[in-house]
Amino acid sequence: MRAESILSHLAPHISRIESKVSGKRPALGWEAVTAAMPKNRLQSLLVRVKWAGDGGAWQVLVVVAMKNLWPQEWKTQDPSRAQKLMELALREWNEPGICRRCGGREEDGRCVVRTRDKKHPFLTCPTCHGTGIRQARSGRQMAQIIGIDEKTWRDTWSRRYAAILAALNTLESNALATICKGLTDREAVQ
Ligand SMILES: [Zn+2]
Repeated sequence: MRAESILSHLAPHISRIESKVSGKRPALGWEAVTAAMPKNRLQSLLVRVKWAGDGGAWQVLVVVAMKNLWPQEWKTQDPSRAQKLMELALREWNEPGICRRCGGREEDGRCVVRTRDKKHPFLTCPTCHGTGIRQARSGRQMAQIIGIDEKTWRDTWSRRYAAILAALNTLESNALATICKGLTDREAVQ
């Protein structure tokens, strides 16, 4: 069973469409998936935000991620810098490689942004030139967003960023494995 198809049941509108297309009731419902969710709070929040489109859980996710993934020995003069780095890592993890301006929204085969012009409501995204692909931020840009100098980014913070991203990906795959296992066990019982 693929995690993607399982998690589509977390988003009620998707499972409704799916049941219309396939002509049969989805085998798994919201309750089954909820029961199989990881007990670990951070893992559960990661799944809710990325796979169930629960944007409302974003702020809590940032707070819980800070508590769990920011080691005490990572010093910073200003705690808001730590939070900025965490948010950058979470955004990258959540939507890897997708243009931030248009979010990869496609119309007629190109990525677009909305305009106020009713006759031409869409414009080819000027940031990604319609490709939907995000340019990686330079070290200078990352340093600027966080509020540190470029050397500090290179020497220390870039490694922290990479470590957080790696931790997020591991937590996510563990969470998906937990959900798959929970649902498989449930099927075996029935
Ligand atoms: Zn774009």
